[in-house]
Amino acid sequence: MSDRTQDNYEVPADLRFSTRDIVEMCGLRCSRKLDPAAFRGIYQPPDRLTEISARVEFFVGSDEILAQGAASGRAVLRCHNCLREFESSVSAEFEETFSTQAEFIDIMETVRQALVLSPEIRQLCRDGCKGLCCVCGADLNKGSCGCAKPERSPFSILKRKDGCKENKNRNP
Ligand SMILES: [Zn+2]
Ligand SMILES: [Zn+2]
Repeated sequence: MSDRTQDNYEVPADLRFSTRDIVEMCGLRCSRKLDPAAFRGIYQPPDRLTEISARVEFFVGSDEILAQGAASGRAVLRCHNCLREFESSVSAEFEETFSTQAEFIDIMETVRQALVLSPEIRQLCRDGCKGLCCVCGADLNKGSCGCAKPERSPFSILKRKDGCKENKNRNP
């Protein structure tokens, strides 16, 4: 067998591969579009996947199978600064070993875990998103709302916590 790609192999829709199939083919390289509904619950609502596909390659060893791959797609996420919903690409790589003794290799679970750990979940709608005004709630990316900025000097916190320290550091 010169090429690991198996053209006539039908990739299971739930990415639960029969271990025996993989061993008999001496490995496999494949990709598949997945149903975003299968990943409900990995993001906090209203964040959600809108498109997802996975590619994976299996390397068969004497008693273990190595699965290497990546998931990529698109998601609607909510900016953690300004709460606006925005669309973003998401991707996550994975690598996991499975026993050749197991009946199935569940790549769906591996993909799910990889997406949960994907850093995109915590991203902002744009670089330097200004967020919301903490007084009136206006989106500051659309312009200033005119509210007076609350004082945010670190000394205002120190004053409350420890009045003595503040006097020591102050110039006469
Ligand atoms: Zn934002
Ligand atoms: Zn405001």
